[in-house]
Amino acid sequence: MTVSHWQRAEQKEREIDLLVVGAGLAGGAAAYFAKQVHGRDVVVTDARDVGLGASGRNAGFMISGLDTYYHRAIEEYGHDVAREVWEMSRRSFSRWREFISNSAFQVPIDNSGSLLLAETREEAKELELAARALSADRIDIEYYSHDPMGRGYYAAIEQPLDAGVQPYLLAKTVMAQSGAELIANNELYRLEEDKGAVRVHTRKFLFKARYVMLCTNAYSPMIDPYFVGKVLPMRAQCLVTEPLDHVPLPYCGYSDYGYMYYRSTFDGRFLLGGGRKQHQSDENDTTEDRLNPKVHAFLDRYLAKYFPDVKAPVAHRWSGIMGFSCDGLPLVGTLPHMPRVGFAVGYTGHGLALAAASAERAVDKLLHGISAGAVDVARFG
Ligand SMILES: Cc1cc2nc3c(=O)[nH]c(=O)nc-3n(C[C@H](O)[C@H](O)[C@H](O)COP(=O)(O)OP(=O)(O)OC[C@H]3O[C@@H](n4cnc5c(N)ncnc54)[C@H](O)[C@@H]3O)c2cc1C
Repeated sequence: MTVSHWQRAEQKEREIDLLVVGAGLAGGAAAYFAKQVHGRDVVVTDARDVGLGASGRNAGFMISGLDTYYHRAIEEYGHDVAREVWEMSRRSFSRWREFISNSAFQVPIDNSGSLLLAETREEAKELELAARALSADRIDIEYYSHDPMGRGYYAAIEQPLDAGVQPYLLAKTVMAQSGAELIANNELYRLEEDKGAVRVHTRKFLFKARYVMLCTNAYSPMIDPYFVGKVLPMRAQCLVTEPLDHVPLPYCGYSDYGYMYYRSTFDGRFLLGGGRKQHQSDENDTTEDRLNPKVHAFLDRYLAKYFPDVKAPVAHRWSGIMGFSCDGLPLVGTLPHMPRVGFAVGYTGHGLALAAASAERAVDKLLHGISAGAVDVARFG
C-alpha cells in the first residue's frame, strides 16, 4: 500500500506513546496488557476494523497447544518448549475466559472440551503416542482406542479443558476492555526509526510513536522484509449449515492432524472447516481472501461421509487468511533494525490457543526487554 501526493494532504501528524497495529485478537490483547497492566497510553489502528481479519473468521476452537500432536512437538522442539507452549495455551484460555466474564455483552462459549480424532489407523497410532506423552506430563486427557461417536474415526483424545467460542465477539470484547483508542480504516504503509521514536506512516496519520507493536499476523511480510520467509500466509475455508434439529457432536472435533475441524454453533448449526491439506498449491502462500470451489466441494463430501445425519443445506461459506510461522512456534520479538518496534505474529492456525499469552510476552519484551521464552525470535540466533 502507498498513499498518493493528493491523499497525503489529509494526513495529520500526531505524537503518541504506544501504537498497536492490527485490531485482531492479538492486537486487542497487546493493547490490553500495554494499557491496563503497564499503564501506557495506547492507540490501536487497523487497515479495516476490529476482528475483520482471521480473528473474526476462525472456527472458534480453543484447542490446547500447537498444531502438531504433543509427542511430535516434544520431538521437534524438545520437552521443555512443548510443555511451555502448552502452558501458554492454558494461559491464553484463562485470559479469554476473564475477558468473557468481564464483558459488557454476552460472548458465547461452550466449555465442553474437544475431541481429537484419527481418520486413519496411522493417525490412531499417533494419537495413542500423543496421549501417552500428555499423560506422562499429567495433562488431563482421556484416550479412546475407538471412535466414541461411532462415525468412522479410529481413535480419539478428549481434552476437557478446551472450548468453542464466538471469536468475532471475543475480538470485539478484548478490544473494548483494552480501553485503547481505536482508529479503523487506516492502513500502515511504512515504518522508520526517528531519533528515539518510530515514524509510522498510515493513511490518515503520520504518527511519531515511542513504541510500536505489530499484530498484523499473515500480513506482516508486507510491512517489513524481516517477516518474509518467517510468516507464511495460508488461506482457510469454512462452511456453516442451516439450523439442525439435533446436535451431531457435543465437542469441538479436530482430525487429520488438525487439517479438519467441526463443531456445533451456538445457534444450532453445524460448522465444518479445513481441506487445506488436499489443496495446498491453491491455499498456501496467499493473502487473497476468497472462496475456493474445490475446497468447498471437498468439505461437502466430508460432511456427507462423516456426518450423513446433517441434512440441512449449507447456509454460508467463507474464507480467511492465517499467518503460519516458519518453524511452527509463534514469533515474538522486536525488529533487529528498529528495537522500538515489537511484534507478536505467526500462530500457525492456533491463535485462540496462543495469541493472548504471546501478546502478553511481546509487551513485556518491548517495554522491559524480558525474554519471551520459547516463542522469542532469539531462537533464530
Ligand atoms: C477460517 C479460519 C479458521 C480458523 N480456525 C481457528 C480455530 O478454530 N482456532 C484457532 O486457534 N485459530 C484458528 N484460526 C487462526 C486464528 O484465527 C488466528 O491465529 C488469529 O485470529 C490470529 O489473530 P491476529 O490478531 O494475530 O490476526 P488477525 O485477526 O488476522 O489480525 C491482523 C490484523 O492486522 C490488520 N492489518 C494487517 N496489515 C495491516 C496494515 N498494513 N495496516 C493496518 N492494519 C493491518 C488486519 O486488517 C487484521 O485486522 C483460523 C483462521 C481462519 C482464517
